[in-house]
Amino acid sequence: MIASGQTERTTAKITSQHGIDCQFERVPAILYSTQNAVPLKEEAEAAASLGIDAYFTGETELSFPVEGAVCFPNQAQFSPLAFIRHICQKLDIREHTKVIKIRGNKVITKAGVMTADHIVVATHYPMRNVPGFYFLRQHQERSYVLLLGGSSCRTGENKNGGAYDALTRAAEQYYPGYKEIMRWSAQDCMTHDGIPFIGRYSVFTPGLYVITGFQKWGMTSSMIAAMILRDKLCGMENPYEKVFSPQRINLRASIGSLFTDIGMSIKGLTKGLLCKQSPRCPHMDCV
Ligand SMILES: Cc1cc2nc3c(=O)[nH]c(=O)nc-3n(C[C@H](O)[C@H](O)[C@H](O)COP(=O)(O)OP(=O)(O)OC[C@H]3O[C@@H](n4cnc5c(N)ncnc54)[C@H](O)[C@@H]3O)c2cc1C
Repeated sequence: MIASGQTERTTAKITSQHGIDCQFERVPAILYSTQNAVPLKEEAEAAASLGIDAYFTGETELSFPVEGAVCFPNQAQFSPLAFIRHICQKLDIREHTKVIKIRGNKVITKAGVMTADHIVVATHYPMRNVPGFYFLRQHQERSYVLLLGGSSCRTGENKNGGAYDALTRAAEQYYPGYKEIMRWSAQDCMTHDGIPFIGRYSVFTPGLYVITGFQKWGMTSSMIAAMILRDKLCGMENPYEKVFSPQRINLRASIGSLFTDIGMSIKGLTKGLLCKQSPRCPHMDCV
């Protein structure tokens, strides 16, 4: 895993303070294009204008030529599982315990009911639809992985296949003689304005919080989520709270994707009803 900014600094501090063996090292992160250097030059300029250590380059250690790349030096690379195994040693964790419902301050599971003053929903895709309406405010994107990752598309759009074919072609082009060992794809939550939702689940649910919409960067962003919620639960100010607030309204940045997501939700739900298919979504069994 690669982490940058606040996450990189915090992980480095915790790792050295607690002597955690998680293969922590500093490496450059490279964002490159084989087609167009212009957006990368703009990215490097934007980073520089924000005081982020980054520069445009035509040279990388990749085995194929690139049009250009942005290099972010000194990023943190470490094993997230080794890191988390260490920091959660003293926590009381119940595994294999599916939450069926949340009612007020009660978390209802098949194994029993838990009560808490503060409940954080960190289930990747929020498990409760109303209130919050996160299913209207973000969509799922699927990314395909061999040793190469990419070909992302909206979940459900690749019905006829073909996403892995694009990766196979890239593997043949860039790594001739490669051997395919396995295929895998991930689902990610994409918000309208590109910023995760971290904070109160809704204005109607005191004590209930959410962490979602990580845009494929949940291991890195979970650190800022932890900091924001720690401060909120302890009654302290956090300078980033407003930026990530699930109750934020940023119509300029999100109006286009908001209408697309609402349209896609309606299309998906009515299709099940009109086509005699099961009107239940296999994701969370919603009608
Ligand atoms: C190949 C690959 C490489 C990646 N590399 C990076 C990287 O370098 N940096 C980075 O930042 N991110 C990376 N990511 C993305 C990152 O892994 C995800 O964004 C992140 O794991 C999402 O975290 P999450 O806690 O929101 O969800 P998850 O990790 O999916 O955790 C949600 C948990 O909630 C549980 N759950 C769900 N519903 C219920 C329920 N009803 N009751 C009880 N439990 C429930 C699930 O079982 C699961 O354990 C990578 C992903 C992939 C696939």
